[in-house]
Amino acid sequence: MSQEVEHVECLIIGSGPAGYTAAIYAARADLKPVMYTGMEPGGQLTQTTEVDNFPGYPAGITGPEMMEDFRKQAERFGTDIRFGYVSSVDFSSLPHKVVVDEIKTITADTVIISTGATAKWLGLPSEQKYNGFGVSACAVCDGFFFKGQDVAIVGAGDTAAEEATYLAKLCKKVYMLVRRDEFRASKAMVHRVMNTPNIEVIYNTETKEILGNGKNVTAVKVVNNQTGAETDIPVEGFFVAIGHKPNTDIFKGWLDMDDTGYLKTVPGSTLTNVEGVFASGDVQDSYYRQAVTAAGSGCMAALDAERYLAAKEHDVKVVS
Ligand code: NDP
Repeated sequence: MSQEVEHVECLIIGSGPAGYTAAIYAARADLKPVMYTGMEPGGQLTQTTEVDNFPGYPAGITGPEMMEDFRKQAERFGTDIRFGYVSSVDFSSLPHKVVVDEIKTITADTVIISTGATAKWLGLPSEQKYNGFGVSACAVCDGFFFKGQDVAIVGAGDTAAEEATYLAKLCKKVYMLVRRDEFRASKAMVHRVMNTPNIEVIYNTETKEILGNGKNVTAVKVVNNQTGAETDIPVEGFFVAIGHKPNTDIFKGWLDMDDTGYLKTVPGSTLTNVEGVFASGDVQDSYYRQAVTAAGSGCMAALDAERYLAAKEHDVKVVS
């Protein structure tokens, strides 16, 4: 099969707040960025409802609307936005090689990685079996289907707390399964959970199995990790909100990562261990993980790429 090869100055992988902000800056710096959106254009924010903490939206905005605004702004300055996923990379020599959808090869002077992170699952076979039939990792996307019903949600971070309160508005009862005897979520979020009458928090509890009738979820089997006591809680929906995994599998062997797979960058910059490759957003940030911090690091990545290219051009001129 013949392979199509295209050369670009700046390739942006991923289309969350980091990728779009990098695109806005790179396009305005005339780097003619090409962006591949990945399988979920707009990224994680397309799965949220209200975003109230992004500066510039005094009345708040929904995640999908905000990402649409980001996209339009990136397009306004000429970013070439394409639907497609990067299937492999070769960072062994310059220019960098990136394969899209397993068939198209792009060579790039600079690569900005903004591939974000994806929701984690518990890893139970029954969770897979009933995924889409009562099991979900996105309350905002699927909560509607459980209107007036009983559901359970596992997790004790800000995401779980936020999603539990969201579900509580739609569902009759929400059981919140917390594996320790305390939350990880911020005090404000815990306060909100505790003040929602139809949320019942069950501490020291782990999910053993999701039970169903072959078609839909009917209950969740939980175990108290202090006493070993098992209980079946009847629910129609089961939501998983236990954190995220960075989307870095294709960069293994090429880029330095921490133990959990987050890309390592030189502190205070977006530089990776490979020349001309920059990382921004959640893919390199396991700590702040906010849309606004991702956007900020997307800006940094574009500026780092621009300065890298300018320095290279300058070197060439000096030599010639
Ligand atoms: P976190 O990593 O903060 O929390 C994950 C939670 O899931 C923890 O409570 C953890 O338990 C629990 N957990 C992990 N694995 C299992 C398991 N196998 N079984 C049961 N429970 C499990 O992820 P979040 O997605 O909640 O948050 C990520 C980041 O995003 C945070 O920095 C958060 O503050 C931020 N965020 C902010 C929001 C806001 O400000 N509005 C909204 C949502 C997220 P344990 O505590 O025992 O480790």
